[in-house]
Amino acid sequence: MLELRNVETFYGNIMALKGISLSISEGEIITLIGANGAGKSTTLMTICGLVPARRGDILFMGRPIGRMEPHEIVALGISQVPEGRRIFPLLTVTENLDMGAFLRKDRAQIARDRDHVFSLFPILKERRHQQGGTLSGGEQQMLAISRALMARPRLLLLDEPSLGLAPLVVQLIFRMIEKINEENRTTILLVEQNANMALKIAHRGYVMENGRITLEGVAASLLDNEDVKRAYLGL
Ligand code: ATP
Repeated sequence: MLELRNVETFYGNIMALKGISLSISEGEIITLIGANGAGKSTTLMTICGLVPARRGDILFMGRPIGRMEPHEIVALGISQVPEGRRIFPLLTVTENLDMGAFLRKDRAQIARDRDHVFSLFPILKERRHQQGGTLSGGEQQMLAISRALMARPRLLLLDEPSLGLAPLVVQLIFRMIEKINEENRTTILLVEQNANMALKIAHRGYVMENGRITLEGVAASLLDNEDVKRAYLGL
């Protein structure tokens, strides 16, 4: 579904991605783990066109998307849930969800999709008339994921969904990520500092260090890998 070949991304003169190659098949949950500053967020932003790749190829469903604008990439079926959630604080929950569907015209299906995200996260239905900024951190994360789902993505990019949340909320969010993947075969690329939880729900994983991919494999084998245990699992 998605393939990155030798992708290089720069911030000015700083090379943040030093030739990244990875591939994701339809229906997979793939996790990208690594320390602060390894380049995980930059990888997601490069895929969705927010930071352009200077070299290399990005293919989505066989089509090159490396030179496309972000809105064109969303229209092809890639949605991102950014780090720090970035919901619209002054808009209500329902209005935030509508913003996720802004490229769509199928009103009846949009309403059904809103009901669907309310069934995934019932607390959002209770709070649907409340401003986004008044929600708890966990509820804002649920809203950010739901808003991304309103674009009907085939590929969902999640940047650190567990950041700053209480353990019980993190467990709920991860269960829902698995459910979203199972229900609609939505493919998921999950960037996480919480490597333990991410590898437990992922099919495969990639480890990033200093702008490069240093290790890849099925999630169970990465969980068992001595280097991964020492560096990322605190074991
Ligand atoms: P974190 O988990 O802390 O977000 P990360 O693995 O997602 O880390 P990135 O945020 O992708 O890492 O950062 C990769 C490198 O690019 C780092 O060296 C970072 O300092 C640099 N960088 C990121 N954003 C910018 C920017 N807007 N301008 C300049 N350099 C940046």
